Amino acid sequence: MQKKHYELVILGGGPAGLSAGLYAARARLDHVLIEKGATGGQVLLTDWVDNYPGFPEGISGFDLVDKMTAHAKRFDLNTLMTQVSRVDFSDPKYKRLILDDGSEMSCDALIICTGASANTLNVPGEHDLRGKGVSYCGTCDAPFYRNMHVAVIGGGNTAIQEAEYLTKFASRVTVIHRRDELRATKILQEIAFANSKIDFIWNSRVTSIEGKNGVEGVNLIDTSGKTSTLAVEGVFVLIGVTPNNEALPLDLLQADKWGFIPTDLETRTSIPGVMAAGDIRSKAVRQIVNAVGEGATAVLAAEAYLQSLK
Ligand SMILES: Cc1cc2nc3c(=O)[nH]c(=O)nc-3n(C[C@H](O)[C@H](O)[C@H](O)COP(=O)(O)OP(=O)(O)OC[C@H]3O[C@@H](n4cnc5c(N)ncnc54)[C@H](O)[C@@H]3O)c2cc1C
Repeated sequence: MQKKHYELVILGGGPAGLSAGLYAARARLDHVLIEKGATGGQVLLTDWVDNYPGFPEGISGFDLVDKMTAHAKRFDLNTLMTQVSRVDFSDPKYKRLILDDGSEMSCDALIICTGASANTLNVPGEHDLRGKGVSYCGTCDAPFYRNMHVAVIGGGNTAIQEAEYLTKFASRVTVIHRRDELRATKILQEIAFANSKIDFIWNSRVTSIEGKNGVEGVNLIDTSGKTSTLAVEGVFVLIGVTPNNEALPLDLLQADKWGFIPTDLETRTSIPGVMAAGDIRSKAVRQIVNAVGEGATAVLAAEAYLQSLK
């Protein structure tokens, strides 16, 4: 039976939330972690995690989540599986959460760990080949594409930075962009244009991704309507991420222009007693390892805030 008021609510059960949950439970805070789906967040979409410390052979996303959840449960992590539809800070000392079924809950301190979602192309083949050659994170998956020809879809900073990073592994990287110039900053463009392993297909978009057990190619259409096929063994879809912020009062949290939440180094937002950790934060790097670190930092900030109320 859940209570109506907690000292601390952790909103979201991805890596940031699970790490916050571990620290909160271990510190014996009066807490609950609220998750609308299954704990694990985006890691559940990750076939194989090769860059999380402590697992020298790598680990499947599912097993990593399982271990993180079991670790927090060992200290009696309290979880509630439901969706928060709205967070209300009209009384900033007494944070209200309105749940999907219309019921309410409140807390003194709140850690927002609602994460983000990678934007998808929504073309045939993309869903079925996810994790089998279709990736949304170059930093995460580049080493799996050693000596292969891969395509990068996108033209912003992330796409071009990741294309550059991919050339450390892939034999050739083809950037496919729907415009005739990149949105990435000039310095990134210069580096990419000077890299002999990177080539570009302009004014084109992907209409489908082909392959049976792995990616074999992408079908393209250009702005004149001409179609073509490019044979590649991997496709990196790097067309941005969308913050999971539907339930949050973005104005009060002073969200950035993309809807991410700015914080200080201790993960404190503009509202006293409200912290944000993981991919929902306004930041450059979105990885499991820093989501986990921020979750822990957020609990320490929450403890300091709760102490200040006494
Ligand atoms: C395909 C893919 C592969 C990746 N591979 C790697 C990798 O190999 N290595 C790596 O370091 N990083 C990888 N990443 C990035 C990594 O998964 C994220 O950085 C990390 O999961 C962020 O953790 P988080 O807890 O901040 O958010 P998330 O993982 O996004 O979790 C947020 C959680 O909050 C819940 N939630 C959101 N809103 C609500 C609400 N209103 N009510 C209740 N619950 C809510 C969601 O259901 C979700 O479970 C990958 C990402 C993707 C998409």
